[in-house]
Amino acid sequence: MSGLAAFKPYFLGPRSENETWVRAGIDGVLDDWFDWRKRLFADDPAAITPADQAAPGFLADRARLGERLAELVAKLRGETPVYSPRYIGHMVSELGLPALLGHFAALLHNPNASSREVARVSAVIETEAIAMLAGMIGFDPATARGHFTSGGTVANLEAVWRARYRLDDNLALGLTLAERFDEPLDIFAAAHLSARRRQAMIARRGLTASDLRARSGVLGNPHDIAERLGRASGRPWRGPVILAPGHKHYSWVKAANVFGLGEEAFWTAPVDAQGRLSVAGLAGRIDEARAQGRPVLMAVSVAGTTEMGEFDPVDRVADLLCHLRRTQGVHIWHHVDAAYGGYFCALDPDERLLTAPLWRALRAVRRADTVTIDPHKLGYAPYACGAILTRDTARDAISTFAAPYVEGDDPEAAPWTTTLEGSRPATGAAATWLTGRTLGFGPSGLGAVLASTIESCRAIRGALTAASAQVRPLDPMDTNIFCFSVASEGESLSTANARTAAVHTAFVRSPHFAASRTVLSAAACPDLIAAHVASWGGAPDADGLVLVRCVVMNPFWADPALRARLLGELTDELRGIIAATSASLTV
Ligand SMILES: *Cc1c(COP(=O)(O)O)cnc(C)c1O
Repeated sequence: MSGLAAFKPYFLGPRSENETWVRAGIDGVLDDWFDWRKRLFADDPAAITPADQAAPGFLADRARLGERLAELVAKLRGETPVYSPRYIGHMVSELGLPALLGHFAALLHNPNASSREVARVSAVIETEAIAMLAGMIGFDPATARGHFTSGGTVANLEAVWRARYRLDDNLALGLTLAERFDEPLDIFAAAHLSARRRQAMIARRGLTASDLRARSGVLGNPHDIAERLGRASGRPWRGPVILAPGHKHYSWVKAANVFGLGEEAFWTAPVDAQGRLSVAGLAGRIDEARAQGRPVLMAVSVAGTTEMGEFDPVDRVADLLCHLRRTQGVHIWHHVDAAYGGYFCALDPDERLLTAPLWRALRAVRRADTVTIDPHKLGYAPYACGAILTRDTARDAISTFAAPYVEGDDPEAAPWTTTLEGSRPATGAAATWLTGRTLGFGPSGLGAVLASTIESCRAIRGALTAASAQVRPLDPMDTNIFCFSVASEGESLSTANARTAAVHTAFVRSPHFAASRTVLSAAACPDLIAAHVASWGGAPDADGLVLVRCVVMNPFWADPALRARLLGELTDELRGIIAATSASLTV
């Protein structure tokens, strides 16, 4: 429970314990905002006079606003109480105060981070906040780039967008060499060319940008280019594939869909009995793609899955891709989806809570081309706040775009040229910036908070597993997400699934605690499910595994008195629910 006292100033507290300081912080921000307007352009006349404010119409409108605001606030009282330690459902919890105050301060100024013309300060804050995140995951903050997005889904789309430009650039070069110089076109080799070799080939042939643009499937007609690629390579062009582990977030299927690749282009790489990407399986799928003449748009590994919070062996994926580069000149774009788990890079390297393989995975996030990280998850920031990080400027600027009505196309001055979204808030950047400058993204700051949540998650797992012999914890539990089934000894998976689903439903109805539910698909992780079902001697007779899922993000579970109280209540509640659902299932 290291660091508990250290982070208590950084959250409001389940009983609004830090109300005084939050109020002072918000008042300070408001005072400054009012004062800013009063002092800037101080000679301008007032536009709203005391006489206006005394007029009956004005007073009536103001009264109506007050009433409706009260109505809205009253409605929001019925909102899901995700701030409470009793909420261990989805990937949301208590907000960090620096994030809340930073968000609020930027909100009032309403900068648009798409351009320095409308965010002359916030664009700088965004750059600094991105450098903090980059430094945390191990990128060189001086050369890494990136920006905030509305979330992990858009950040993942941003990564696909860049990888697709890179693929298109390479294929356009291959096609130019084939059509103009009669060079043979090997699609797989051409698609995975390194930036350096690409430049050398362009220089050797004296090619111009317009030569290449004329053969771009992104800028031109993709069907026409496909036909020409087929003709030049001697086999029909069937498009690239995206390789990601079977347990990937559904945002990857959306990405394949949005970029017009067809969901067929989304190839899942096998996962092992631990639910982790199998590196041998990934290598096999790369070979399959090569045999079919289909390039790999990108290989994705996941640092902290949405279902279980577990880590793929990011280091061994990076080793495999490095081996392909060294031995075959095949450069495959590596994206790490660290939307959930990226912040674990803030933990102390001596932290015993993480295993050696996990540390190796975390330290290898820096070897990726692009990384997704979600401050609105373990960064304790308000929605909507995700981020895409690229290892360097070239990987960021590859998708650069031009539009006439905003200033130049220098990506430093005009962030919109490298973002998928147009207008963007600066609230996420400000929230992250203030968190980084106060709590900090190191072992004694956010790292300590996250270490405490892992420890709390273990305590919850221990207590719930002891509460009933029917609770079957799912392994591995790498971080702060605990999943379990409810099953009697020897019963089939389908019966256990019904029992587990009933327990989850009872949790949803319970006013005391909230947990979430997930279903692992047997097609995606057969070995993981087989190992789990074997833990109670059952038969895997279903297409999926239903799990109750507890995401333990709330830092206050680390408080000894609160933990003792809530663990007692939670285990009693689970025991009661299991007894009640058993009775109803056997009727
Ligand atoms: C949450 C998550 C996403 C999607 O992020 P949103 O912010 O919900 O769009 C993508 N990948 C992983 C691994 C996630 O946990």
